[in-house]
Order: sequence, then structure tokens, then C-alpha cells
Amino acid sequence: MIDQQMHSRFGHHPEQLFRDNLELVEQRIAAACARAGRSRSSVTLLPVTKTVPSAMLRHAAHAGITVMAENKIQEGHQKSLDLGDLGIKWTVVGHLQTNKVEKMIEFASEFQALDSLRLAQLINAELVSVGRSLDVYVQVNTSDEESKYGIGPDQVIDFVKELSRFPALKPRGLMTLAILNGNPEDVRSCFRRLRAVRDALTAAHPYCGIEKLSMGMTSDFEIAIEEGADIVRIGQAIFGKRPTKDGHFWPGLLP
Ligand SMILES: *Cc1c(COP(=O)(O)O)cnc(C)c1O
Repeated sequence: MIDQQMHSRFGHHPEQLFRDNLELVEQRIAAACARAGRSRSSVTLLPVTKTVPSAMLRHAAHAGITVMAENKIQEGHQKSLDLGDLGIKWTVVGHLQTNKVEKMIEFASEFQALDSLRLAQLINAELVSVGRSLDVYVQVNTSDEESKYGIGPDQVIDFVKELSRFPALKPRGLMTLAILNGNPEDVRSCFRRLRAVRDALTAAHPYCGIEKLSMGMTSDFEIAIEEGADIVRIGQAIFGKRPTKDGHFWPGLLP
């Protein structure tokens, strides 16, 4: 029954489907890089696997996917167990509740939604107790009041300065979700804003570790690449349209 439901969403040859979708995404990334005068190798594709069942992700791994990003801890944790034999690297891209820190540390090697010092402190303490570190990205709210999560662009420099108190956190970059109003120029200005914040940050704190911009998803990754994205987080263009409404994953960004 479950298998039938999966096959109606993914077809009878999911591995080939994922291969074909990846190829199309790859072509679009390459074209955007060419337009922006960037080398293809300057952009990393981060596949976002939320709502895609583990059995289907096994096919995706066979199609060449080695890194998977999840928005919700419970779902990501379960999949990491289901796919434990595949050596997948897991990233968490969604807002983290403080009571989920321990569970995240069990499977994630990267966290892209750091948005409070309280959370930084809790994650650091947990990491210290298990003797490891974690790559982190600071989530920035580039769409003003539209989004519930993320540090305000004006607060990022002070926030990052405070992060040096938490040695198990390895700051790597900034992450944002652009406004989802469908207006490409508004979207572009969110991405420009993130880039400006990063540039100001590296001028103020050249050794803070933050270099990369994680921005752009299925609906806007080409604009993000034109505006300097280092990492694009793409789900639906690879795995097909999600049955779940996006407001569930991006509180405040959608009605
Ligand atoms: C789901 C999600 C994505 C990918 O969105 P798609 O529309 O599937 O490409 C990117 N970033 C975050 C934080 C997400 O939750």
C-alpha cells in the first residue's frame, strides 16, 4: 500500500526519474553560472529531501545524491537511521526547537538555521559533552517582517562576534529564505542583502569563518546564483512537488 502510494508520486522508475531531474537542475545551475560569469564549481547543490520517504531516498542515493537536507528533526533523524548504511551527510535547514538539540546532534553534521544565542549555547554544550563540532550557518531574515525566523541584517555582526564564545560551533556561512511573493526583483533584493551582510561581516571580522551564502531554492535558485549563492537548497525540482503546504515548513513566509 505504502509502496503503491510512493510509486504513484515517484513513478515506477524513481532512480531514473531522480537522475533525469538532477540532470535538468544541473543544466539550469550551469546556465545560471555561465550567465553570471561564475565557474560551475563555485556553486554547491544541496538536495532537500523533506517529505520524500526513505525508500525513495535510497533510489536517490543510487542516482548519485550523497548529501541530504531536512527541515524537521524527527523526520531527518528517522531517515538517517533508515539510510544508515549509505554514508549520507545530513544537514538541517529548518528552525530548531531547543528541545530537539540533542536529537539533531545525533545525525546532522551541519546546521543552517542558527538564529539565537540561546540555541547556540545549547548546541555548543551538547557538542562539548559528546566531543565533536558542528558546521553552522546563521539564518538571516532578509525579508523583514515577512519571516518569523532569522537574525535581522543589522544584528548579524554582533551576533557572530558572540559566537566565538562557543568553540564547538564552526561558523561557515549565512543562510536565508527570500520573500515568497513571486516578484523576482523583491527576491533578488533579499539575496543582495544577504551578500551585503556577508561582505560587511568579512570586512569587520575577516577570521570569523563565515564565507558562504546559502540561498536559493526551486523557485528562485537561478536568481540566487546570479547574486552570489555558494549553496543552493533544492527540493521540488529534484523530487517533484510536495504534497505538504509550504507554510508548514516556513512559518510566516506564506499565508
Ligand atoms: C524545503 C526547503 C528548501 C527547498 O525548497 P524547494 O521548493 O523544495 O526547492 C530550501 N530551504 C529550506 C529551509 C527548506 O525548508
